[in-house]
Amino acid sequence: MSKGFTTAILHSDRQGGIEHGSLHKPVHNSITFAHNTAADIAAVFQGRQPGMTYGRQVNPTTQALEKKITLMEGGLATCCFSTGMAAISATLFSLLRAGDHVVSSVFLFGNTNSVFQTLQNFGIEVSFVDATDVANVEAALRPNTRLVFVETIANPCTQVADLERIGTLCKAREVLYVVDNTITSPWSFKPVSVGAGLVINSLSKYIGGHANALGGSVTETGAFDWEKFPNIYANYKTGKPSTWGLLQIRKKGLRDTGATLAPEAAHHISVGSETLALRQECSSANAGKLAEFFNTHPAIKQVFYPGLAAHPQHALAKTLFRNNSSLMSIELKPEVDCFAFIDALQLVVIASHLGDNRSLAIPVAHTIYFEMGAERRAEMGISDGTVRLAIGIEDSDDLIADFAQALDKAAAKA
Ligand SMILES: *Cc1c(COP(=O)(O)O)cnc(C)c1O
Repeated sequence: MSKGFTTAILHSDRQGGIEHGSLHKPVHNSITFAHNTAADIAAVFQGRQPGMTYGRQVNPTTQALEKKITLMEGGLATCCFSTGMAAISATLFSLLRAGDHVVSSVFLFGNTNSVFQTLQNFGIEVSFVDATDVANVEAALRPNTRLVFVETIANPCTQVADLERIGTLCKAREVLYVVDNTITSPWSFKPVSVGAGLVINSLSKYIGGHANALGGSVTETGAFDWEKFPNIYANYKTGKPSTWGLLQIRKKGLRDTGATLAPEAAHHISVGSETLALRQECSSANAGKLAEFFNTHPAIKQVFYPGLAAHPQHALAKTLFRNNSSLMSIELKPEVDCFAFIDALQLVVIASHLGDNRSLAIPVAHTIYFEMGAERRAEMGISDGTVRLAIGIEDSDDLIADFAQALDKAAAKA
């Protein structure tokens, strides 16, 4: 019987019959695994027999988390990494070759943008397009386009990609569709539902949820026909074609880069993931209330949040997502100093990161989007007064009170 989202995650580990009736998969702090015979170790290494090879590629605690993420995403299999960036870099590095072309959303997490800049120095061409309209993606496709990469809700201005239509386009053109689901999380959105072949999550954010462990994952959904992908090495075309892509990512990506998730971190993330749905519902409800409060505030020029009726993709977000998540940005009026506003916050933490239980604020042009330069910032709609807010699960009245007093203080100085 298929269970609900939270039920499935909560009872996932103990289905394996853990010793002493343990509810959690134990943390296996072992980097290698003993085998009974030489024939056994050979069979495991050649993939003819299940088992553990070496801790850089596999670990039982990490496997238990991979199973949970696969359940959450409704996919076939998952490979975990040390961080979300490791998952993204390893995926691109293992699947692309010189001469290939990629279409990416222009609205991207800053470090993902940096990876695409680097790939261009290795002979891979990247076209950055406004992915809120599928027509822009279609116009950028070329015969050598190997994949289309988008985020669900983009950082920091919350543009929503035209996810379903891009999925239909990728299917028709037989191009791999990669969706970074970090900002929505699999509770709010399952990219497999719009035809994504690979789904990436930063486990450091909503899935872990407590800012105590870094991690990343790539999930194979089964939606892409890897027989149509020219870059799969002959070695990895052994099992069913639906397994080829993730096998190559695990070998050429995880094994060769060595960006392995630590078993302790896998345990923290696993425990955090048990409350993903509860936390996301709460933080999203808080964000909705705050967006309405900011929307009429005289010190604020603009609020970026898909839950607001005036957001350009408000209707689209409604059809795609269960909720609007809890990432938002506000642009203060030019006369209101954004540093004065941030410094006046008493409860909200001045910090990078998102998807934590605590609410966080950061001036983005001066920090996470500083390195990319003014020109790219302007393309992404980021101004010097843009403050990104990652709303947590505090009591909403406390959050509104803190933001209200900080805005009043900063406005009084203007
Ligand atoms: C944070 C983030 C990442 C990178 O994740 P890390 O675990 O910090 O490496 C990738 N994509 C998005 C959308 C993110 O928010």
